[in-house]
Amino acid sequence: GAVPLATVPDPSDRLLGGLLSSDFDDRSCLSRYRPARYRRASLHALSPHLVSALRRYESLHRLCGPGTPAYARAVERLRAPPKASSGDDVDPSCSYLVWTPNAGLGNRILSITAGFLYALLTDRVLLLDGSRGDLDDLFCEPFPGSTWILPRGDLPARVKLTIDTPESLGNTLGRGEAPGGGAPWLYAHLVHNYDAQDKLFFCDDVQAQLRRVPWLVFQADNYFVPGLFLMPRFERELARMFPRRDAVFHHLGRYLFHPSNTVWGMVARYHGAYFAKADERVGIQVRTFKWAPISTDEFYAQILKCTHRENILPAVVAPAANTSRAAKRKAVVVVSLHGEYSEMLRNLYHEHGTAAGEAVSVFQPTHLGEQHIGDKQQNQKALAEMVLLIFSDVVVTSGVSTFGPPNYDCRAKARCDTGRMVQHIRHCEDFPEGVQLL
Ligand code: GDP
Repeated sequence: GAVPLATVPDPSDRLLGGLLSSDFDDRSCLSRYRPARYRRASLHALSPHLVSALRRYESLHRLCGPGTPAYARAVERLRAPPKASSGDDVDPSCSYLVWTPNAGLGNRILSITAGFLYALLTDRVLLLDGSRGDLDDLFCEPFPGSTWILPRGDLPARVKLTIDTPESLGNTLGRGEAPGGGAPWLYAHLVHNYDAQDKLFFCDDVQAQLRRVPWLVFQADNYFVPGLFLMPRFERELARMFPRRDAVFHHLGRYLFHPSNTVWGMVARYHGAYFAKADERVGIQVRTFKWAPISTDEFYAQILKCTHRENILPAVVAPAANTSRAAKRKAVVVVSLHGEYSEMLRNLYHEHGTAAGEAVSVFQPTHLGEQHIGDKQQNQKALAEMVLLIFSDVVVTSGVSTFGPPNYDCRAKARCDTGRMVQHIRHCEDFPEGVQLL
């Protein structure tokens, strides 16, 4: 469907209404304070409570982040955990949440966001494992005076973390051990193949136990924010931070993700060449999945039907209908691994005129054919394309993205349908197994 993004840009609002800290050097990250000139002003009010939670988090990260004495002590305890928990060694001020990568860039952005919200709620410091190099030169640092990249080698070197990892929450509970009962770190497996024991992560009593784990490492391939809204212990804080639950990603995404100067260069050049002079900018994202095969013609027909029905793209008339100067210039950016859709749209508006005389130009920055997970350059291009969609006045996306909180009822201790459990979580329109916040 079509989503009108927001109202006109407000270039004076460089801190996005207080969402961003002013403590950064402008030139170190060109994208941090500039998007206000390009993107439309937000329609979603920012809660003062969220703003103060973010400033508080920034102080915590500065105090506990890599390079600080508190961090050095925490790493030391990870390598040589104190034998008996006498209580003396516990440094209650600093505990950590380590994100490890899984799946494509979209999934990563969503799992980092969900992880950050969990870190906010549990006073943990979020660190990203960038040891495979695929986060290099992608995002700027989001927290002033510190880094969110876990220094290489600080976590105990291990083979890949999987559902079978002995230190996982699920396996720990499966052995009848209490999480936090001694191990200095624990792994939360929040990937789609997780089992009933792993899903206990989303239960209040298990969360209480996890407070004692200084290093919590996680891996997720989905936006598990709805799962956090299921836990009574977070209810009040979440309600104060996000009076509108469906705006969680909107706010936290704008707070966390600032493209690196390399990526921003791609965005700015593209914008200058194709978007800047247009009267209206349209973004169309076309994602295809092997498990949901559809012919190019059929998919193209769906895109045309939707964009015409929603008055996003004009219908065409007979070839030579209008030769006068264009009434309105529409620039369309198509974002897809495949080049066919933009080519078909470009031909359509090249060969035909439109009734009101609009000039429609269609562009596509890349069509890489297939995805290469973890490829740095492809991720940079994918991110640049995401930002161009953000800078569009209207966005059209194909269905099905990344979903999935657990289907476990902590009170009944049984499988359940989370889409029916609480009023503000329901099944997704385009992917019934997924759920979304309302
Ligand atoms: P999902 O699989 O649709 O949930 O999306 P992900 O972002 O998690 O994974 C898809 C990966 O394929 C991305 O990280 C990109 O590297 C690549 N990809 C998919 N679509 C596009 C696209 O339109 N443009 C570019 N540049 N890359 C894409």
